[in-house]
Amino acid sequence: MASSFIDKARITVRAGNGGNGIVAFHREKYVAAGGPDGGDGGKGGSIILQATESMSTLMDFRYKRKYVAGSGMDGQSCRKTGKDGENLLIRVPVGTVVRDAETGEVMKDLSDLEPYVLCKGGRGGWGNMHFATPTRQVPHFAKAGLPGEAHDVILELKLLADVGLVGFPNVGKSTLLSVVSKAQPKIANYHFTTLFPNLGVVYVEDGVSFVMADIPGIIEGASEGAGLGHDFLRHIDRCRLLVHVVDVSGCEGRDPVADFDAINEELKQYSGDLSTRPQIVAANKVDIMEDPENLERLRKHVEELGYELFTISAAAHQGTQELMKKVAEKLSALPPVRIFESDYVPKPAVVDTSEPLQITRTDDGHTWLVDGPWLQRLMGNINFSDYESRMYFDKTLRDSGLFRQLEEKGIEDGDTVSMYDYEFEYQG
Ligand code: GDP
Ligand code: MG
Repeated sequence: MASSFIDKARITVRAGNGGNGIVAFHREKYVAAGGPDGGDGGKGGSIILQATESMSTLMDFRYKRKYVAGSGMDGQSCRKTGKDGENLLIRVPVGTVVRDAETGEVMKDLSDLEPYVLCKGGRGGWGNMHFATPTRQVPHFAKAGLPGEAHDVILELKLLADVGLVGFPNVGKSTLLSVVSKAQPKIANYHFTTLFPNLGVVYVEDGVSFVMADIPGIIEGASEGAGLGHDFLRHIDRCRLLVHVVDVSGCEGRDPVADFDAINEELKQYSGDLSTRPQIVAANKVDIMEDPENLERLRKHVEELGYELFTISAAAHQGTQELMKKVAEKLSALPPVRIFESDYVPKPAVVDTSEPLQITRTDDGHTWLVDGPWLQRLMGNINFSDYESRMYFDKTLRDSGLFRQLEEKGIEDGDTVSMYDYEFEYQG
């Protein structure tokens, strides 16, 4: 499509990995054997999404599709923790809905300016300073950092507007918006002038205002993917009311009744829900109307279908205030703009546990270090404060045969099993 308007994008995001903890021992002149003082790795940076009013499209995501936050640095001696990785802040237009690319579940509706943590950075590994106990005074081990969360997501822009203007190109939608609000959409006498949605605030009277959106024109066959179709309809998904603008001047040789039906058919094709959205019909360009018969046919047609019709001339500012008053009145009885609830269920990482884990028995004989790529991936994804998540972790470990291997190597009840930043007492 020639248009540069991008309102849907798929991106890959990855939080930073945690830095590794290190093994070090305190060294000072004349002090023979110092204690363990290897510091922890820093936390990985997170991926944070935040909506901003200064963006109106998802164009930035057209060429840049991969976003990676900074990794944490490794720990240092003298108990110094590595530097945390930098968070990566990704700005999106207000009204962007974030979905899981695999399942389509809504993760977040960025309809306000609150930052949203999409991927958490990996936890830093512990340095050996953490592992000194009375029975384990010289811990020669430290832990690796955990990987940051990664995700494929779909960003979809769904404008936050009370009212959506719909209608064929050139019928006067942009003109109407420019006349009743301070918005300055492009107005021109050719089709498809509007390639970007425009939002305008309409002040009706003290304390009464609403947001109206002028979206790119809908054409016949649009819902089947021809031209500027479907993609743009998603912008009016949230609108509480539609103002359906019809050109009744007859100067382009159009039949207003056929136009009206064609647009409604498009809405229906896109979603049944949209076709039942409350509508007010604005019969525009009455200032240059050639044949009043057209207007009367349209009036009869829409009134039979239960819609109200207003005759206006957007260009001549005729009837526009009355129309806006009616819109405000209708809105006051309608539910608020739809905010999408998250239906996303985080899924634990599915790992291939056939790869054997590395088991190391430490010097004190009672600590068992367990390490390996799949375990690292699994742990980076487990939220230990969540019961379900922990149960999944236990089951995965059990199924992997780890406990059997530990038994074979001689683990005893009460020994410590130590994996990354997690330790537990073994009970066979
Ligand atoms: P849109 O494509 O629906 O946004 O239509 P525009 O607002 O860009 O208008 C298309 C053309 O119709 C422009 O040349 C406008 O000046 C003209 N126009 C819009 N409203 C009126 C009107 O009420 N009367 C007359 N005579 N022309 C109008
Ligand atoms: Mg326009």
